[in-house]
Amino acid sequence: MNLNSPLFDRIRTQRQPREEKRESGIKCDAPGCSAEGAYRAPMGRLREGQYFCFCLDHVREYNATYNYFNGMKDADVARYMKDATVGHRPTWAMGTRRGQAGFREDGGPTDDPLGMYRARHHRRAPEKKQPRYSPVTMRAFEALGLDETAGPEAIRTRYKELVKRHHPDANGGDRSREEKLREIIHAYKTLRAARLV
Ligand SMILES: [Zn+2]
Repeated sequence: MNLNSPLFDRIRTQRQPREEKRESGIKCDAPGCSAEGAYRAPMGRLREGQYFCFCLDHVREYNATYNYFNGMKDADVARYMKDATVGHRPTWAMGTRRGQAGFREDGGPTDDPLGMYRARHHRRAPEKKQPRYSPVTMRAFEALGLDETAGPEAIRTRYKELVKRHHPDANGGDRSREEKLREIIHAYKTLRAARLV
C-alpha cells in the first residue's frame, strides 16, 4: 500500500458511519497498520455518529489524543496517525487526563459516572495503581528514610534513632544539624497526624 497516496485521505473522508463495534475483515484505519480494526473511536466534532476503526494499539493512541484532534481536518488526523505509526511511538501517554471525553478501547465512554456502561458490559476499566498515601505523607516517610510499608514500631524506632543522631547534644552542641532535626520531627508529626504511628 502506498501510504502517501492522496487516495487514503479521500477514502477516509467518504467513509460511511458504522454501527457495529466489530465487523470482521475491517482493517485498522491507522495508515500502514494491517491489523484488524476491531475497536471503533468517534471521529469527533462535526462527525457525530461516525467512527474510525482501529486495532487495540491505535485506538489507545487515538483515545489518548482525542481532544488533540478536535477541529482538525481528516487529512491532518491521517497525517498525524501516520507520523505516530512511523515515528513518535508510543504517543498515547500524551493528553491522558482524568475525565477527558472519549472512548475506552472496549468502545465504552470514558465519561461513565454511574458505571452504567461498565455494568452492562461486565468489563472493568483498567485500574491505575494509586500511591498508598498522600504526597505529604510519602515525603514524611522519605524524610525518615523509610518506605510506606513501615509500621508504627519501625517508625518510632527510626524516629528515636534519628533524633538521637541529629540532636545538638549528641554533636557537641553543633547547631548545624538543627535543620535536619526539625525536618525529622516534622515528618514524625505528619505520620502521627495521619494515624500511622
Ligand atoms: Zn492499527
